[in-house]
Amino acid sequence: MTWVEIEERLKETKIVVFPTGSVEQHGHHLGVGADWLQADEIARRVGEKSGAIVLPTLCYGVSGHHKEFPGVLTMTFGTYKQVIFEILESLNRYGVEKVVFMNGHGGNAGAIVEAAKEARDRFGMLCAVTHWWDILKNESIHGHTAEQHAGYAETALTLASRPEAVRMEKAIVVATRQVDPEIQLTRAGLARFKNGIVRIPLRVIDVTDTGSMTETHPDDTETTSDYSMITPEYSEELMEKVVDWLCEFIPRFESLTLPQATKRYP
Ligand SMILES: [Zn+2]
Repeated sequence: MTWVEIEERLKETKIVVFPTGSVEQHGHHLGVGADWLQADEIARRVGEKSGAIVLPTLCYGVSGHHKEFPGVLTMTFGTYKQVIFEILESLNRYGVEKVVFMNGHGGNAGAIVEAAKEARDRFGMLCAVTHWWDILKNESIHGHTAEQHAGYAETALTLASRPEAVRMEKAIVVATRQVDPEIQLTRAGLARFKNGIVRIPLRVIDVTDTGSMTETHPDDTETTSDYSMITPEYSEELMEKVVDWLCEFIPRFESLTLPQATKRYP
């Protein structure tokens, strides 16, 4: 769109979709662009189906915990938060009031939330941060959870986005490496101890050699190299589930009004 067209569109709607991702390793079988490719394709389809305004995808993200693998390009938390905030600030200048993030990379979430809080504080903007694995939280992906790094769901969504970024014959998802019988690592940052959960920030290289993790303890999910059920048809179905959810959520979020705060302690 030209700026003139954008100005016209913003007379009808004050909401935009912002796809964000990362450039980081995704095991032996997915290209390093997986996260931004998925976010980009989901947002593109949402725009096509719902008519929502979609921003260009921010491909780079916060991937310092993956940096030992070739191909990883990362920003620090502070830089990324500032980049996101300045884009929100730009949108605010010409009247955008709400932003729906389609974030394809978990490592970005903290910085996006912080930038969104600042935008809320400074100019009243309202943001919603969505992740496809949260949208698919209650789906069983052939017995696996959606959020596994380079797992079934992520492989399917990459396949539906950009098939040439998938090497299905090299697909293997391995159990997160264990170093202690009692402290059970489920990912590079989370472990279980007895009935509780403890956060132990690690590098991804500490818990996997291949880079693709079950993100569960080996007792919960076995290592698998059987990706035969991740067909193009299945991938397309999963992609459409995410797209449909967003197409229903966006108008709902657009009409959401928050009550005015009655107390102010500046
Ligand atoms: Zn990913």
